[in-house]
Amino acid sequence: ALRRAYETLAAASGPARLLLATYFGGLGDNLDLAAELPVDGLHVDLVRAPGQLTAVTDRVAAAPGDRVLSAGIVDGRNVWRTDVRAAFSALGDAHRRLGDRLWVGPSCSLQHVPHDLDAEDALDADLREWLAFADQKLGEVATLTAALNHGADDPAVATRLRASDTAVAARRRAQRGAEAHRRRARGEVETARRGAHAESAASRGAHGAASGAAEGRRASGQAERAEVQRRELDLPPLPTTTIGSFPQTDDIRRARRAHAAGELGDDDYRDFCRAEIAHVIGAQEEAGLDVLVHGEPERNDMVQYFGERLAGFATTANGWVQSYGTRCVRPPILYGDVARPAPMTVEWQRYAQSLTDRPVKGMLTGPVTILQWSFVRDDQPRAQTCRQIALAIRAEVADLEAAGTHIIQVDEPALREGLPLRRADRKRYLDWATECFRLATAGVGDATQVHTHMCYAEFGDIIDAIVALDADVISIEAARSRMAVLDDLVAARYPAAVGPGMYDIHAPHVPSEDEIATQLDRALVALPAGQLWVNPDCGLKTRGWDEVRPALAHMVAATRRARARLAGGGDAN
Ligand code: GLN
Ligand code: ZN
Repeated sequence: ALRRAYETLAAASGPARLLLATYFGGLGDNLDLAAELPVDGLHVDLVRAPGQLTAVTDRVAAAPGDRVLSAGIVDGRNVWRTDVRAAFSALGDAHRRLGDRLWVGPSCSLQHVPHDLDAEDALDADLREWLAFADQKLGEVATLTAALNHGADDPAVATRLRASDTAVAARRRAQRGAEAHRRRARGEVETARRGAHAESAASRGAHGAASGAAEGRRASGQAERAEVQRRELDLPPLPTTTIGSFPQTDDIRRARRAHAAGELGDDDYRDFCRAEIAHVIGAQEEAGLDVLVHGEPERNDMVQYFGERLAGFATTANGWVQSYGTRCVRPPILYGDVARPAPMTVEWQRYAQSLTDRPVKGMLTGPVTILQWSFVRDDQPRAQTCRQIALAIRAEVADLEAAGTHIIQVDEPALREGLPLRRADRKRYLDWATECFRLATAGVGDATQVHTHMCYAEFGDIIDAIVALDADVISIEAARSRMAVLDDLVAARYPAAVGPGMYDIHAPHVPSEDEIATQLDRALVALPAGQLWVNPDCGLKTRGWDEVRPALAHMVAATRRARARLAGGGDAN
């Protein structure tokens, strides 16, 4: 297919020259194929796959004509400053062999990184020296090109290389300092972890929940926990709930902006959020939902909010990148060791629960999603960084549980998008990713119900990982595929409960009671009623109240109809 496609393109390209750009990994066993395609140039990612440089240079040098090699050696996917001297010497051999046929560039498109570091005046001065955003990366490319063309001794080049050397050395020094600190901190983490265990076990009366079990495993198996939770939570069949966020109105955004600008004091902002939480709780009681949420009014974004509260993260003022469509986010920069100086969500949760007799779900973002949607340090393996985040979330889970939260949702919408491109690398990723989720969640007692949520549910190839999360309930996107995704769960004999999204919240359409009833009936064909929850397919933050109110009312009405039928021994199952 590739050969045909590129032959067709080459035949049609006329005087235009074709550059085949590959990135986010090495060419691997496609190297020879890529070298044979009728293109004028080949771009390779030397950040993710520096080891391919010699082999690619060989192929390009041997190619007929004036084919170019575009060396993607400045990281286009992350925010770290390039060690320009190291990059310069890495390209020396290719430059000697290819001369003008060597190009220098970022590894991939620069749309993944913020625009300009100069727009950040609040960043810590030391950290700033470690960073390069899109504009700065272009400067690095220019320096590299100048160094290759004029030599490292050219005065202008030498100055810029020295600036790079200084920044690289400063970062190394800081990291060595952190190393010593880390060894000490590790001792403290151990102690804190044991403390959290003891506390949660005591508060839930879960005998031996912590003491005996490995920290990444729940004390009891899925079925046993489900039994305890059924007794303790006493929910109706087909429990109804939502995924967490409620409309982020202009009022909320205005208040947040005023608070950030110092125009709205901390107390006033807290009162504002509390009033919003009270409003959201009231609306859910009115809709007749069984398991409520506080609505996340205090969260600008599900990752940034935690990034702002965890040590080891920095946040930017203007570091916007595209999330999807017209939505943009400011991913935090994870530069150091992660720790949780103080509880992050417990006060909001406690307040929400004080307003109602129905259970309010605690709401956290999972370690893999925080990792995936941040700019992550590149000086240690991602798995190790993810474990640090997991321990921080674990502490928050323990505090939520100790505060009387019986249901805790840990969102992992990014679990799947972290999958490595190459199949051979996937198992290792899924192993540490699921282990981190369990590390974050498995410290709770049997009676505490752990939920997770994923949006883009193409589960077929990661279903074992979904099972390995060992959550008690998973809510997933299912509406667009009309519940087809449930087949994967059924085929894998998914043991826990499932909340397939009953309608698509991304569409500006209020589902009718009948539409939801139809989806629910489909779900009831796939799975027994005892295993099903009823919820929308994602958070409601992008919708307006005029859509959310009727949609939830219809969802509850459709559920009540199904319940009545089940109670009457009807045809549902
Ligand atoms: N709890 C989050 C919300 O409701 C989950 C968002 C997501 O799945 N991306 O907004
Ligand atoms: Zn979602």
